[in-house]
Amino acid sequence: MLDFLPKDALNPPFRGKVIYTEVIGFLDDYGFERVDKYIKKVREAHFKKIKIRNCYLCRYHAKGEYEDPIFCKTYRKQCDSNVASECDRYRAFGSMAECEEAERKNDEFDRKHSRITFDSF
Ligand code: SF4
Repeated sequence: MLDFLPKDALNPPFRGKVIYTEVIGFLDDYGFERVDKYIKKVREAHFKKIKIRNCYLCRYHAKGEYEDPIFCKTYRKQCDSNVASECDRYRAFGSMAECEEAERKNDEFDRKHSRITFDSF
């Protein structure tokens, strides 16, 4: 999964290698809004039966940190979400409800175990 300008999808090195594109417009924000939109689009594509693999679709993902946004519960390390493309333990969610339930549990875990507070900055 990549994000790039539409004109770049037609040019090397992407020509013939991109199986699915969607124009989502421009985002002002490079933080949480951008990540949330990316996760939403990955899941929508998956449940439209587009053959993609991404850690945000995997039952074993939890939240990592900004540079490595995935914490893999099975490998117990942080990574980017594209690692799923070659992961032998990848297990995709079966429904959007399963995704949402996993997200809720991940958020709950973060709230209980987060060591970062606003006073820390
Ligand atoms: S098991 Fe593989 S695909 Fe699943 S979260 Fe971990 S690294 Fe990603």
